[in-house]
Amino acid sequence: MNKRAFLKLCSTALTSPFISPLLSWATGDKLRNWAGNIEYGTEQSHSAGSLEEVREYVRKQSKFKVLGTRHCFNKIADSTDQFLTVKTMDKVVALDPETRTVTVEPGMTYGQLCPYLDSRGWALHNLASLPHISIAGACSTATHGSGDKNGNLATAVSALELINAGGDVVKLSRQQDGETFRGAVVGLGALGVITKITLDVQPRFMMQQHVYENLPFRELKDHFDTIESAAYSVSLFTDWQKERINEVWLKNRIEQGRTFDAPSEFFGAKRATKNLHPIAELSAENCTEQLGVPGPWYERLPHFRMGFTPSAGKELQSEYFVPREHAVEALLAVERLHDQIGPHLLISEIRTIAADDLWMSPCYKQSSVTIHFTWKQEWPAVSKLLPVIEKELAPFHPRPHWGKLFTISSEQLHFRYERLPDFVELSRKYDPDGKFRNEFLNKHIFGTVS
Ligand SMILES: Cc1cc2nc3c(=O)[nH]c(=O)nc-3n(C[C@H](O)[C@H](O)[C@H](O)COP(=O)(O)OP(=O)(O)OC[C@H]3O[C@@H](n4cnc5c(N)ncnc54)[C@H](O)[C@@H]3O)c2cc1C
Repeated sequence: MNKRAFLKLCSTALTSPFISPLLSWATGDKLRNWAGNIEYGTEQSHSAGSLEEVREYVRKQSKFKVLGTRHCFNKIADSTDQFLTVKTMDKVVALDPETRTVTVEPGMTYGQLCPYLDSRGWALHNLASLPHISIAGACSTATHGSGDKNGNLATAVSALELINAGGDVVKLSRQQDGETFRGAVVGLGALGVITKITLDVQPRFMMQQHVYENLPFRELKDHFDTIESAAYSVSLFTDWQKERINEVWLKNRIEQGRTFDAPSEFFGAKRATKNLHPIAELSAENCTEQLGVPGPWYERLPHFRMGFTPSAGKELQSEYFVPREHAVEALLAVERLHDQIGPHLLISEIRTIAADDLWMSPCYKQSSVTIHFTWKQEWPAVSKLLPVIEKELAPFHPRPHWGKLFTISSEQLHFRYERLPDFVELSRKYDPDGKFRNEFLNKHIFGTVS
């Protein structure tokens, strides 16, 4: 099915894909993830509204998973036993101008936190493409935005409170707990239930977003570093066809009131004259304001607006992190597959992320370029394509996004995450009997270590 027909079918079948999984749950259908591609293994769900309720629940249960906003595309959040939701624990606990931190409850989303912070003069360093996701779930899976100098969203975490398998409260902070803290932040839901999370904040800032169309691939090849460093956050969208990047999104900070006067051309690409969606066929109404219109950080860093469906809705996603120094070679390797990729792809996005020191982060000790794929929801075909892409990228030792679809073997994961054995040991300390484990974690994390 071609892309236009696929998108039309999606919008007819799902008027609002953002709410449809919630509705299906409410109408008695099976509980699914946001995209609807994963049917979870149980409908048994318990809601906790306070720290004590979480502790009591954890003590009583022998096996369960915490659900965030269900935006992962694989089974990392799945359970065949029980779910715990902490959705109603969504308050700000403290905003501390002295330490420049904000502490929030685990059910809070970026969409809830950002306007609160902004109204009090504060900002986060970066955001993902959408604000709809829970902060705890996003940081647990090393969710990221873009920007050469920007670490992923988990790098803003300065402290965590979690409930271990015994129901005890564990408090960890960047300042006091060193390696243990760095092991726990990207915790993949394996260490316990996060009940508080503290993030670094900085003074609020304004931004402008400009989009350019049709950047020749040869320009990217010759000027990758200059293009990626041209703004605070850069996203390149391509369908890998016609040897071009379809859209270049440049997000600039406005420093000292000086707005950025964007040239009409950028490495051969033309400045857009209307707002665009990354998937050009879709309405830009769902997207954050472009055309250089100044706006607050939280309304420019994400591509998609709160209250609107992000991305396409009925889709699949995969993403691979490659060491920055191999960026161009890796992109050329994927580009060679354009005939195979084209029929199943909605759009790809290329971003850069700074290195960090969080054990299970795909950017651990490695500045990275990410190559992301938004696929049509055609799993039989996509599942055959992923190993082909992974084989092409294998010389660069790609690390997959923890919340997206991949087929890289557990042995390879072990090889690519040097701190994985330490992470397993840490998990065993907090969860000796595997209360927080599921099939995904057993296969990809615990199955690889004896
Ligand atoms: C349209 C769309 C756009 C996206 N864009 C981006 C993007 O720009 N960048 C990017 O990196 N990713 C992106 N993602 C991926 C996704 O947002 C992240 O992987 C993130 O995990 C989603 O958070 P969640 O709360 O929905 O997680 P869930 O799927 O609900 O859970 C993920 C994991 O976190 C654990 N968890 C959740 N809450 C807690 C808690 N309180 N305590 C302990 N563990 C917990 C769960 O048990 C599970 O293991 C996108 C996804 C979608 C659907």
